[in-house]
Amino acid sequence: MKAVQYREIGKGPEVVEIETPEPGPGQIRLRVTAAGLCHSDWFVMDLPAEAYTYGLPLTLGHEGAGIVDKLGDGVEGIELGGSYAIYGPWGCGLCHACAQGQENYCTRAAELGIQPPGLGAPGAMAEYVIVDDKRHLVPLGDLDPVEVVSLTDAGLTPYHAIVAAKDHLRAGSTAVVLGVGGLGHVGVQIIRAISGATVIAVDTSDEKLALAKEVGAHHTVVSGPDAAAQIRELTGGQGAEAVFDFAGVQPTIDIAREVVAVNGNIHIVGIGGGLLPTGFFSTPFGASVRAPYWGSRSELMEVLDLARVGAVDVHVERYGIDDAPDAYARLHHGEVRGRAVVIP
Ligand code: NAD
Ligand code: ZN
Ligand code: ZN
Repeated sequence: MKAVQYREIGKGPEVVEIETPEPGPGQIRLRVTAAGLCHSDWFVMDLPAEAYTYGLPLTLGHEGAGIVDKLGDGVEGIELGGSYAIYGPWGCGLCHACAQGQENYCTRAAELGIQPPGLGAPGAMAEYVIVDDKRHLVPLGDLDPVEVVSLTDAGLTPYHAIVAAKDHLRAGSTAVVLGVGGLGHVGVQIIRAISGATVIAVDTSDEKLALAKEVGAHHTVVSGPDAAAQIRELTGGQGAEAVFDFAGVQPTIDIAREVVAVNGNIHIVGIGGGLLPTGFFSTPFGASVRAPYWGSRSELMEVLDLARVGAVDVHVERYGIDDAPDAYARLHHGEVRGRAVVIP
């Protein structure tokens, strides 16, 4: 089968021919219908050899969907031919966090060497993918896998962050979205769908800001030295009750710190390497800072339900598998509008 792999440190992704995998006991093989590209793939591929822990070669793709095509020994209760999304943050299934469906916060995954597909385990950017357990599949029903595959990360991750901030997002409140790329453009829509907040979107790119407006942002602000002052002004000097940073670079983290309201909260989702120094006088009274990771199984079901009722619509750029390296290059250069999705 064809697969998109990261094979050598410092070299970009490549399309290669590899053996089609067979499902082991308890596992399920999917024929992949769609796989999304995430900026985290570039985080991984930009790591120096001494910091790289994902194994080589690595089949990419931690946003995946497919049709059940073969069952390993002992798998019951799932039909061949069904269309599913893959829940990516695999956990042990037994610890307290996993028992709550929060496998993203599994306390034993690291110790047991469990890694998500595309981030250690072979990912979905291939013609076939192996899923370790049927609990990591969520039925798509009539949803178009290409349209919704990115909700497994670019939807689930913002949804998890935003749900945690819901008490701060009452009518009359303000939410700031920093970075309106794959995650951010879905984040804007989720805030609009589940809260009464006014949304201010911030990005360096005018095209991304236009997309933010299109998907429901009330205001847009160009990222830069004046952004914080503009946001303060838009909020009558109060600042924002919740700030979602989907870039996580130093300039956005600085904006987050400058615009968060008294008792507000900052959610650092982007892994751009910026730091937010915390101390009593570094943020307003009562403000809190959180660094959420991915989301829970039930939250994935919920964000897919938002797509089902038309409240969330991923803006998709479609690519064949041979064009995946070009799509990755576009992502690297900030040129993707919404999310790039490979259809193998
Ligand atoms: P993306 O490239 O699609 O979007 C990033 C956006 O940030 C772009 O629109 C870009 O123009 C904007 N941006 C960059 N610098 C900026 C600045 N200084 N000010 C304002 N905007 C700026 O990336 P993505 O796939 O949406 O991922 C976003 C981030 O989230 C990445 O760091 C990714 O690794 C991370 N991520 C984290 C989790 C998690 O669980 N915490 C999950 C998925 C992705
Ligand atoms: Zn991701
Ligand atoms: Zn666990």
